[in-house]
Amino acid sequence: MFENKDKTHIEQLGEFGLIEHLTKQIKIVQKSTVKGVGDDAAVLDFTNKQVLVSTDLLLENIHFDLRYVPLKHLGYKAVQVNLSDIYAMNGIASQITVSIGISSKFPIEAVEEIYQGILLACDNFQVDLVGGDTTSSLQGLVISITAIGHVDKNKVVYRSGAKSGDLICVSGDLGGAYVGLQLLEREKQIFLENPEIQPDLEGKDYILERQLKPEARKDIVVLLDSLEVKPTSMIDISDGLASELLHICKASEVGCRIYEDKIPIDPMTYHTAVDFSLDPTVCALSGGEDYEILFTINQKDYDKVKNDLDISVIGHIVDKNEGAAMISKSGIQHAITAQGWNHFNK
Ligand code: ADP
Ligand code: MG
Repeated sequence: MFENKDKTHIEQLGEFGLIEHLTKQIKIVQKSTVKGVGDDAAVLDFTNKQVLVSTDLLLENIHFDLRYVPLKHLGYKAVQVNLSDIYAMNGIASQITVSIGISSKFPIEAVEEIYQGILLACDNFQVDLVGGDTTSSLQGLVISITAIGHVDKNKVVYRSGAKSGDLICVSGDLGGAYVGLQLLEREKQIFLENPEIQPDLEGKDYILERQLKPEARKDIVVLLDSLEVKPTSMIDISDGLASELLHICKASEVGCRIYEDKIPIDPMTYHTAVDFSLDPTVCALSGGEDYEILFTINQKDYDKVKNDLDISVIGHIVDKNEGAAMISKSGIQHAITAQGWNHFNK
């Protein structure tokens, strides 16, 4: 996929040259970063905050496919996926480290593109890249990112705080990333069978962006703070609404009722799912990779969130013995099962 570009072999720079080349443009923006790239460890100072740390490992052909994921998007998304975990604790992300394993055949320009995406994400979310590791890989591209953030001790929100009677809320809309992936997979198959045919992705920008360029919901953490709402529980939607609801129910020892007609689904997601003979509700429940935030609030906070177009109230928490269920549009109650987006099942 790099045919038309000038290629520079990694050997020409060597490991230290490559690290220097990739990190020289970094500008530190966070007060808490005392020392970034360049020593044996980064030094951070959070004074009286609690520190949040979260890591993800992304492997080529398990988590991403370089045949349709542009490298810049890959870098951008790899960062978003990690920041999302920090926001899901009701915290603010402030630093990341980036570790990459790359084949020596991978041209420098390709690594640069990944870093363009990583640095753009850092810039957009005011996060400092403070370190990492660089090594060669024989088995495809590997990217591991660790995100570090902070939160006031009295503001941290766990999965475990939901109480019977709390309202279940979700940000944004669901299912788009999964339907976007189906579209990319279909075009890949068509391309593999007949490379002459150009991909037909016209007018599908929204769902393609949901898949290729997700945006972690820092804005929701800021919004809830400004509304003076502290959720009782919180989780980010990486594996699909069903699986995340079950995580909250298990950790909080509660059950839930959600209503199918309240699940936010964008019209393009809806229509494209139908074109693929998929049930849009199933895409929202089991699709995954939307990186929206699922949270519960005390009923007394309802008035503070009810007019916000970016937050949907989709149901409520019930006692554990009532189980987890969805009420369908026709009024039938279905048990919610854990069929989140599992990469091992692909
Ligand atoms: P060490 O031998 O102590 O592991 P390295 O030579 O691997 O040190 O790294 C030197 C510096 O460059 C460190 O500050 C490290 O955090 C940083 N670094 C290494 N690889 C990366 C990378 N891929 N992205 C950002 N910083 C990196
Ligand atoms: Mg190292």
